[in-house]
Amino acid sequence: MKYLEAFRDGDLARRLAAAIAAEVDEHRGYRLMEFCGGHTHTLARYGLERLLPDNVEMIHGPGCPVCVLPSGRIELAIDLARRPEVMLCSYGDMLRVPGKNGATLMKARATGADVRMIYSTLDALKIARAHPDRDVVFFAIGFETTTPPTAVAIKEAQRLGLNNFTVLCNHVLTPAAMAGILGTPAEQAIHVDGFVGPGHVSTVIGSRPFERFARDDGYPVVITGFEPLDILQAIRQLIRQLNDGRAELENEYSRVVSRDGNQKAQALMAEVFELRDTFEWRGLGSLPRSALKLRAEFADFDAEQRFAVQIESIPDHKACECAAVLRGAKRPEQCKVFAMVCTPDNPLGSCMVSSEGACAAHYRYGRFADRKTAQATT
Ligand code: SF4
Repeated sequence: MKYLEAFRDGDLARRLAAAIAAEVDEHRGYRLMEFCGGHTHTLARYGLERLLPDNVEMIHGPGCPVCVLPSGRIELAIDLARRPEVMLCSYGDMLRVPGKNGATLMKARATGADVRMIYSTLDALKIARAHPDRDVVFFAIGFETTTPPTAVAIKEAQRLGLNNFTVLCNHVLTPAAMAGILGTPAEQAIHVDGFVGPGHVSTVIGSRPFERFARDDGYPVVITGFEPLDILQAIRQLIRQLNDGRAELENEYSRVVSRDGNQKAQALMAEVFELRDTFEWRGLGSLPRSALKLRAEFADFDAEQRFAVQIESIPDHKACECAAVLRGAKRPEQCKVFAMVCTPDNPLGSCMVSSEGACAAHYRYGRFADRKTAQATT
């Protein structure tokens, strides 16, 4: 724990917060979006927002992979799971994300669908080898961080000649989502001054793909890690850039992230996947070239082709504000059903499922502070 504890030091955190407070310009505001759900979780868990001056506002971004998958894709997985020949495998959180009319993979399992919770892509391969008479579908989700393991599983299935294994691919791309946030139509656009850039994703793709947001679009970006001191340091660097009128890509997470990233993982992804023309995101709508599909050479392992599926666009529950939360246009507590109808035990929307979801993080760590604030102002 040596390397974690050092980045969780309370005294250092308070000193960094004091340094931030000394550096902010009281005549302006600072609206900083943390892209990653992991950063959102750390902000909530350590109460970092309460250490910041009032004119520094953190805006939660769309970087939770479970949250951004739209209902239509969840519904597609449920439809596949209900086929008698199919065993559908996915990570635990995906089993609880609501699709149409509150349907989930967990509920489908309760009514007889064969849905398996797995911890790694290789678990899905093991299941496929153990059940040669069944069609094992791996419901794959995630940003660039989880894409290489899916590529490994597909290549391994090809090597083993596993013809009962396919992947329902929902891997999405972070830079495209950041571009989507910046390209939001004027009527829905939110004001952002700078970005706390993704840490895990950058270990794979490097910091280079984020340089264009500083160079071409004029937004400071600081890539950072997931410990409280990492995030406070990134906030301080962003504030300094904004005070200086600079827009640069800075890498606070240099102990893990390089400019070019993990080239072996990138080569593996490029070998197995190619860009989709467009992909629907919850909250951001259809974004061009923002997701991956299997290359033609791996078509035998593509569940969309094996089962000739149709993908429908399905609106969220009408009380659900996940789309606005994912765009940074609303905070979790501004959704009318937050902590009332929608809780982690009974999620109405996707942002309440994963620990990286803004609503789940705020429910777990921040909702009592909301009450205190409300009581203090009444
Ligand atoms: S509280 Fe629930 S329904 Fe509302 S935005 Fe959050 S996850 Fe969606």
